[in-house]
Amino acid sequence: MRTVARRRQIYEGKAKILYEGPEPGTLIQYFKDDATAFNAQKRGTINGKGVINNRISEHIFLSLQAIGVPTHFIRRLNMREQLIRQVEIIPIEVVVRNVAAGSLSKRLGIEEGTQLPRTIIEYYYKDDALGDPMIADEHIACFGWATQDEMNDIADMAIRVNDFLSGMFAAIGIRLIDFKLEFGRVWDGDYARVILADEISPDGCRLWDMKTNQKLDKDRFRQDLGGVEEAYQEVARRLGLLQPDDDFAVRPSWRRSSICRSSCRRRSPDWRSSWCSVVAASSPRRSSSWGSRCRSRRSR
Ligand code: C5P
Repeated sequence: MRTVARRRQIYEGKAKILYEGPEPGTLIQYFKDDATAFNAQKRGTINGKGVINNRISEHIFLSLQAIGVPTHFIRRLNMREQLIRQVEIIPIEVVVRNVAAGSLSKRLGIEEGTQLPRTIIEYYYKDDALGDPMIADEHIACFGWATQDEMNDIADMAIRVNDFLSGMFAAIGIRLIDFKLEFGRVWDGDYARVILADEISPDGCRLWDMKTNQKLDKDRFRQDLGGVEEAYQEVARRLGLLQPDDDFAVRPSWRRSSICRSSCRRRSPDWRSSWCSVVAASSPRRSSSWGSRCRSRRSR
């Protein structure tokens, strides 16, 4: 009788779960539909969000890699999972702002939508219990959260990512208001280098339609604006990641499999194998055959 290994969960966050990967130094990042806001005081579900964020983040990380930004992304495994490099997460959230919105508008009384004279980079200490407080470079140096060289690399990458994403979104009629990045260390002997980690998706970006200023991001959930699923889908669709009839992400689960199957037939083998594993991907706590699937892929 063949036994199937239960995969080991490394970490569960608000929107993602990390599992041990198939090889040392790798992890599997699973995208959930769960949504939280205001330091998890507001909780909910955005149907299909995990599937869409997985695709959008894959697209963005691959594009950034293509312009030379090192990232933790290795490849997408299926609808909700991607294989990533294991990193030592730097406990700093890096927020890049082009236009006043959210906490900046609130803190400084600047009207939301005001174009900033120059891009601002802010740092927040990643600590849920403290509510992710804003910090200065001095705190980072004082408490040794990152070295000065690492902070220089982080700031350079953040500006590079902002330039690239601002152009990418402008090309599809979307204004990049602000976004959050996370970085991690990978070790090579005694030397560490910093790479981009986590995800980039409408969960951690403010994206406004250029013509209407309509919000196409998690603010729709935060502010109870409605149309949350549709906004996420719209971003994916404009990026060319969903076809107009690929609306499975927001359908009830009983419809999802048949819709997926028909869309799989029209797509690449990779997409087909994605569908094959959607059941396993949707049920992370059940034992699944992801290990054997990865192994068989490699041996091909
Ligand atoms: O709330 P605030 O205006 O500081 O958020 C700035 C940007 O960072 C927004 O795009 C928001 O979605 C993102 N963010 C995030 N995770 C946090 C805090 C902010 O993705 N914990």
